[in-house]
Amino acid sequence: MSDIQVPDDVRRTALNVRGHAYVPYSGHPVGAVLISESGKTYAGCNVESANYKGLCAEASAIAGMISSGEREIRTIYVIGPGEHRCTPCGDCRQRIREFATPETRIVVLDGEGSPLKRYTMDELLPDSFGPENLNKTSGMR
Ligand SMILES: [Zn+2]
Repeated sequence: MSDIQVPDDVRRTALNVRGHAYVPYSGHPVGAVLISESGKTYAGCNVESANYKGLCAEASAIAGMISSGEREIRTIYVIGPGEHRCTPCGDCRQRIREFATPETRIVVLDGEGSPLKRYTMDELLPDSFGPENLNKTSGMR
């Protein structure tokens, strides 16, 4: 058993949004539930297209947060279709990094919504390149 807590509403939202995934090509539905700094929840699923250039669930959730005028991720939960650890892909690690702080946590859930593992941004993307490298501000210090 894991000592990582996943609130019931987050778990329900994760299962629900994963159910909306549009994945006719991979058959690999993923959901992401993002809690912003304000405590608001943004959910996203993966959306594929016939040219095989789909949108990841994490990117979808981040787009919702940005579209609502927020810029900081407190926690992002990712749920895949099965028991394996569905960690964010390389592109999404960089996307999450853009809006992460040292306190941001990335939590990977199993197919039932129970936590498998929790990461810091630095664990998922060590020595990362971020806005500071371009003299821009971000939550990462
Ligand atoms: Zn991704």
